[in-house]
Formats: sequence, C-alpha cells, structure tokens
Amino acid sequence: LADVRHPVAVAVQVAGTGMALPCRTGLPDDAFAHDGQITKQKVRALALCALAPRPGERLWDIGAGSGSIGIEWLLAHPRCEAVAIERDPERAMRLRANADRLGVDRLALVTGRAPDALAGLPPPDAVFIGGGLNDALLAQLWRLLPQGCRVVAHAVTLESEALLSDWQARVGGSLTRIELAEAAPLGTRRAWRASYPIVQWSATR
Ligand code: SAH
Repeated sequence: LADVRHPVAVAVQVAGTGMALPCRTGLPDDAFAHDGQITKQKVRALALCALAPRPGERLWDIGAGSGSIGIEWLLAHPRCEAVAIERDPERAMRLRANADRLGVDRLALVTGRAPDALAGLPPPDAVFIGGGLNDALLAQLWRLLPQGCRVVAHAVTLESEALLSDWQARVGGSLTRIELAEAAPLGTRRAWRASYPIVQWSATR
C-alpha cells in the first residue's frame, strides 16, 4: 500500500484529443505516406480479414506500395513477420519510412520485381498480391509456396479479374467482389461516389 506520508498521484489518461485510431485493422489512409497507390482503409480491412494473421506467421506483401498491408499484418501481433516486395525504389523508401514511423521497423524490404525478387526468401504463411499480378506470378507461387499457405489477391482491371476467375475455377478458394461507395457532395446535395470494384481471390495452397 502507498506510504501515506508520500502520497503518489497517479493520473491515468484513458482518452486524449488526438486522432481516434482503430486498434485492430483498417488504419486511416493518412497514417501512411503514399502517392495514391495504396489499398484504401476499408478494402485493406477486408484484405487483412482474409489474410488472417496469427502470432509468429510470415507474410509476403507483393507489390507493397506504401507498405500498408505488411505494416498492418505486423501490427496484428509482435511476433508476426513480413517481407515487402516493391519494384519502385521511391515507394520502397517510402514504405521503409512508414514502417519505421509506425513502430514496425522489423518489416523486411526487398526492392525488386516479383516473381524474380522472391527467390531465396524464407517461406511465408500468407501472401498478399497487390501488384504484379499475372499468370506467371501465380504459377510460380503455386510451385513455390508451402502447403497450407494462404494467398489473397486483389484485382481491379478486367484482365486481372479474368485471371483470378480462371484460377478460382482451377484451384478453388473464394472470389469476392468489393463495391464501395462514399457519400460526396453533388452540387448542393449529396450522391454516392463509387470506387472501382475490386475482386478479391482468397485461396489456400
Ligand atoms: N497494397 C499497396 C498498394 C499496391 S499498388 C498499399 O496498400 O500501399 C501496386 C504496387 O505494386 C505498386 O507500388 C507497384 O510499383 C508494385 N508492383 C507492380 N508490379 C510489381 C512487381 N512485379 N513486383 C513488385 N512490385 C510490383
């Protein structure tokens, strides 16, 4: 018990005036420096939901951009590991800074082009493909990945959507179309501003 001659004042601040940050997944886009190439908050939350990080697991974040997916994977648990693979050197530097600033400097970074840049990396438990999606990449991953590895890919173009549709028909998994719209001003009123639909393929090797 506290010595009554030397009372100790303990101030416990349970809430501040700063930004309200979700403590699970789906950090605001502003939490990451980016050039527009970023998986947006709500879509990112759905990506992390499909990736389903567990303590100690390793992610390959292919086409890592701002690093947001890999960073949120690492924030899921202190023992999670992630490798960001990004071909653009400027984005690679930016994602390095994002990871360091957000407290996950253990993010590993490979500046290079997948699939070549994947050679020699320690095997993952899950892979996210946010860039560089094509048939050669998927074929290579399917050869390389350990049994049980989760693979989540996002497609925006008709061509990459067709590719994911094809792979789901061949190897299974679930295909989800994500269509989001945000209310935005239209003249003096408001209307739904739709984002490009995103097709998410989530499968297990
Ligand atoms: N998920 C990211 C956004 C990805 S944008 C985020 O939340 O920030 C797609 C990224 O893939 C771009 O940065 C692009 O430079 C990268 N990219 C495209 N093809 C690639 C390839 N073959 N290997 C590595 N990166 C690639």
